[in-house]
Amino acid sequence: MTKIISVNAGSSSLKFKLFEMPTEDVLISGIAERIGLADGIFKIEINGEKKVINIPIPNHKVAVELLMKSLIENNIIKKFDEIEGVGHRVVQGGSHFDKTAVVTPEVEEIVESLCNLAPLHNPANLLCYREFKNVLPTALHTFVFDTAFHQTIEPETYLYPVPYEWYSEHKVRKYGAHGTSHQFVSKRVAEILNKPLEDVNTITCHLGNGASISAIKGGKSINTSMGFTPLGGVMMGTRCGDLDPSVVFYMQQKLGLTPQETDFILNKKSGMLGISGFSSDARDIQDKVDENDERAILTQKIYVNRAINIIGGYFVQLGRLDNIVFTAGIGENDATIRELILKSLEEALGLEIDYELNSKIRGKEIKISKDNSKVAVYIIPTNEELVIAYDTYSLLKK
Ligand code: AMP
Repeated sequence: MTKIISVNAGSSSLKFKLFEMPTEDVLISGIAERIGLADGIFKIEINGEKKVINIPIPNHKVAVELLMKSLIENNIIKKFDEIEGVGHRVVQGGSHFDKTAVVTPEVEEIVESLCNLAPLHNPANLLCYREFKNVLPTALHTFVFDTAFHQTIEPETYLYPVPYEWYSEHKVRKYGAHGTSHQFVSKRVAEILNKPLEDVNTITCHLGNGASISAIKGGKSINTSMGFTPLGGVMMGTRCGDLDPSVVFYMQQKLGLTPQETDFILNKKSGMLGISGFSSDARDIQDKVDENDERAILTQKIYVNRAINIIGGYFVQLGRLDNIVFTAGIGENDATIRELILKSLEEALGLEIDYELNSKIRGKEIKISKDNSKVAVYIIPTNEELVIAYDTYSLLKK
């Protein structure tokens, strides 16, 4: 048995899951939150039992130390070197990585050079890697890139119609994100169907606080809604998704906004929060919809409209569509959003949905379309941590 830890670091959080591979048993999972603030929170879960510790976590170094200490204290390991592999989620791998990489000084340098493409994420990913490398120097460390799965997208899809030098000199192109999730659920649906991955075409809807939709042809990503950064694509919790760029210059002039302020508004104050005016959380929006709140109803309508426009485009691009998969927080749990999206696609795609079944399902793998539906529709809980652990495990065994 091999112990592999999956790590997902944000600027103020550190999420982890320790797997026993290849059995996929989760020995412990947890999260350090509010890193850098006085009132840090460290949460762990072992065999369904949860513990919450309130403790200052001034930096990622302390978060890693807390995590490692908790493994010993809870008798998960006796010595640090029992952990043989650490898989680090890295948001931006640019055009350099089409698969998971073992971390070497060269790999580290490339990821460092990509920090300006993901200023919120890559620095935190690197910082965390370095802390883990210090405490686990003999383990194999890997970088699992959010962008890697989308490297199969063709130039006519990933290039923007702007001066070509913006791409050749400044790397401006569509990179996408949530690659591990789109990969996991598209593979899983082929397994469920018991068909070779090459024969299955799927549109995967990763609808969480961040959201993206991808077109997967025979196991390869041919399009995805997020763009140069995770700001593009569908409407999200606080991000606007696709937008006419002239809105940016117009509003900068109108309100005297700096580029940084505009960036903040489009990333943090837009999306569901921007339209509803009260929350970025789909559950809060639904509660207000139930009270007939006009802005909440409008929020859901825009959300659905944005999603079906992307799905419709991908349906055409794929040529043949076998499955639609819903995953992530909203995709797995929000039956109303799923129903609204599916009802809007029903006629065009020849869908036959069991809405009664849909309304009852939360966070469970299931087919919600009827057998006579032209396209099958599934809910498949995502498991990005497991993809990270598997990739690391396979590289370790090579
Ligand atoms: P994620 O980023 O994948 O954690 O997804 C977060 C989003 O999922 C938020 O908008 C939540 O409101 C939504 N979500 C989580 N659980 C539920 C639920 N039970 N019903 C509806 N939405 C949910």
